Amino acid sequence: MGEFELIQRYFQPVARDTAHPDVKLGIGDDCAIQRIPPGHELVFSVDTLVEGVHFPSRYAPDRLARRALAVAASDLAAMGAKPVCFTLAMTLPKADAHWLERFSSELAQAGREFGLALAGGDTTRGPLTLTIQVHGTVPEGQALLRSGAQPGDLVVVSGTLGDAAAALDYLETGAPSQYQQTLLDRYNRPQPRLALGQLLRNRASAAIDISDGLLADLGHLLQASGCGAVIDAGRIPLSPALRDLAGEEAIGHALRGGDDYELCFTLPARFRDALHRQSPIPLQVIGDVVAEPGLTLLNADKHATPGRSGYEHFGADND
Ligand SMILES: [Mg+2]
Repeated sequence: MGEFELIQRYFQPVARDTAHPDVKLGIGDDCAIQRIPPGHELVFSVDTLVEGVHFPSRYAPDRLARRALAVAASDLAAMGAKPVCFTLAMTLPKADAHWLERFSSELAQAGREFGLALAGGDTTRGPLTLTIQVHGTVPEGQALLRSGAQPGDLVVVSGTLGDAAAALDYLETGAPSQYQQTLLDRYNRPQPRLALGQLLRNRASAAIDISDGLLADLGHLLQASGCGAVIDAGRIPLSPALRDLAGEEAIGHALRGGDDYELCFTLPARFRDALHRQSPIPLQVIGDVVAEPGLTLLNADKHATPGRSGYEHFGADND
């Protein structure tokens, strides 16, 4: 199967199924053309996923399509952007019709769900690798950055943390239990928090999506903002599935495990009540922004054993 036939057969239908009014010209020309509504700015980001590094070897093609697009869309969510379209560059070891069929039909489904139209791409032969560039728009000057946190702001996270990291233990499980399946869904089907991200415009002072773990990603945000935070480990939201299956390790997954794609943001306290009411998903205040750089973690048991400090401190350069 040549490249032309591959695109015609598998990717033209995705473009048709995901069409977006702001994609003026899609697949089939030398470039795509995106319309930017007046008073808006283009927001874009690119992600590369390599087999065996960013997703498991022999990962199911439908899972790969969904997860890759969700991960890319999550960066738009973190910026408060409205999704518009994406391009896909694929390196494939071979043109396997069955694999491509499953991949492209799930890509179309996920594209429709996230509001992202396939606007172009490229295919080459080699080890399985996907590169997705996502485009979104925001009203001028309203994109959420990592750099706006102020001392006194609340540190807030969406959903629950640690589930996707804990799921890695069950990827090969033949007949997962209900709780194991809950965690696996968090890994295989991450939900980019697009509606929440757009709701945070003009409210959150800084935002980031949690791809590398709460400590790492909050650390990036604080570093960009030139301040620090005090986080209460006991307030970090953990799912019943994670508590049940990971026990004492649950909090470690939540702090250091990646792949959750929840949002972590800082919020002036005056917005808290209205945001809690309007948010499409549960939000949890986990701490406060402070002037002194670095991340201080209060243990869940604040009455720590005598002689042991009740907190861990992570340097400002922690990543
Ligand atoms: Mg990100």
